[in-house]
Amino acid sequence: MSYLFDPSIPAVPVMHSDTLFPVHRIYCVGRNYVEHAKEMGWTGREAPFFFMKPADAILPVADGSVGEMPYPTMTSNLHHEVELVVAIGKGGSNIAVASAPEHVWGYAIGLDMTRRDLQAEAKDQGRPWCTAKGFDHSAPISPLHPIAQTQWMEQGGIRLVVNGQERQNSDINQLTWNVAEIIAFLSTLYTLQAGDLIFTGTPAGVGAVKQGDVMEASIAGLGKLTVSVI
Ligand code: MN
Repeated sequence: MSYLFDPSIPAVPVMHSDTLFPVHRIYCVGRNYVEHAKEMGWTGREAPFFFMKPADAILPVADGSVGEMPYPTMTSNLHHEVELVVAIGKGGSNIAVASAPEHVWGYAIGLDMTRRDLQAEAKDQGRPWCTAKGFDHSAPISPLHPIAQTQWMEQGGIRLVVNGQERQNSDINQLTWNVAEIIAFLSTLYTLQAGDLIFTGTPAGVGAVKQGDVMEASIAGLGKLTVSVI
């Protein structure tokens, strides 16, 4: 048997390595920093909720290079959301909070790029967010850093600068639901698998970018992710 055409598995490069992390699914957490929840009109105390992007929405950017994200069609309000990305190395369901770290392979910096106008329309109409969140190239991502090198991450600055001006600046210790709690909660809804990526939510300060803008995202210990909107 053979494939009719190339199955082309999306993959994220691993830092200082020739290996690739094949992506199975991309889960995203909504409103997971209190200050961002407030800027979107919520209290910040709601239970976690999730949405997904297709695996091939990733836009991997090599260390030290500048990624190029095409400005998407059908929007005039493309927003940036800098996020800590957790890569799952060992699957499972109903994972306990205490054992969640065993399931983490590593971390990356990600951008949950959003057609905010389409998202607002979807919210108004009670429709799905797929076209607002899951479009092509909507998930720029840095190389993965193995947890063996970073250790379990509970704090560290997370920041986004656009054209040299700071837009977002917080600390991952401000996550409403921390990484272990997210993994535990998500694994009650889905069987997690090796290859899953979890975008853990964005701090306050989301805003629009346009063609020609350069986004520089950083998380302490994970380096930088630089993306130009073309
Ligand atoms: Mn997000």
